[in-house]
Amino acid sequence: MNISVEIDARSGFCGGVIRAIEGAEKFLAEHPGEPLYSLGEIVHNEEELNRLSARGLKSISRLEEADATVLIRAHGEAPQTYQKAKRLGIPIKDFTCPVVLKLQESIRDAYSRVKTEGGAVVIFGRRGHAEILGLQGQTDGKAVVVESVEMMKEAVASGAVDVSRPIELFSQTTGSPSVYAAVQDYLGCVMSDRNLLKVHSTICSQVLSRHEQLSEFAFSHEVIIFVSGRQSSNGKVLFDLCRAVNSRSYLISSAEEVDPEWFRDGDRIGICGATSTPRWLLQEIASKILQLV
Ligand code: SF4
Repeated sequence: MNISVEIDARSGFCGGVIRAIEGAEKFLAEHPGEPLYSLGEIVHNEEELNRLSARGLKSISRLEEADATVLIRAHGEAPQTYQKAKRLGIPIKDFTCPVVLKLQESIRDAYSRVKTEGGAVVIFGRRGHAEILGLQGQTDGKAVVVESVEMMKEAVASGAVDVSRPIELFSQTTGSPSVYAAVQDYLGCVMSDRNLLKVHSTICSQVLSRHEQLSEFAFSHEVIIFVSGRQSSNGKVLFDLCRAVNSRSYLISSAEEVDPEWFRDGDRIGICGATSTPRWLLQEIASKILQLV
């Protein structure tokens, strides 16, 4: 079969994830025999987790499981996590992405402004996601999290968000720009005084530019193989974007899932991934496709 395979030059880990992984590898190299625990998966990608686990990085879900240094990943943590680590005497290596740190600080400041006026901090993002938990923690858990315009409408209807009071709106760093814009539009329409709404542009610039470029990439190939861990919220958003412009888009997390039935003679196949997908995995999948067809 005559096909061509192209790996998206812009796919691969974002700066925050690279920083955390390189930091973990450096720590493990400098402390041979010493364990390093990651509070939650350092990256939502099983293949990369296996590679790091072979070097000594262990994922834990609770601080109590650690008996040595704990790494805070790029998503960041709520203040309570740092307080607890201090109480338990657990050393921390903090690799919270600087962009997330800045967002946490902005949310803290916003909360101190609105809480005395009966207002609300609203965060657009995935409920329960690690970054969101860290952001909510800046507001004593009081920030309202919405994943869609429908959830925003529900929050207004139930009185969880009072549209006659100040509202400061933020997005998770990996949120979908188009859905965030729709949430802003909705709030702008229902607020009695538009000046009470303060919108913060907090989608990461790396994610914003990826959205524009990835649409073009998906459109210019007959088939898109999107590689991402199933847990990655950024992966889900970017895969949906590919599928919206190219119906022959397939989501996989490893080379074993490639199906030769997806390809036809003359196809140009594009391989791309989320901010948590390693480039070596994209290359492995490209080789697998070329072997199969
Ligand atoms: S997407 Fe942006 S903000 Fe989020 S971890 Fe990566 S670099 Fe940091």
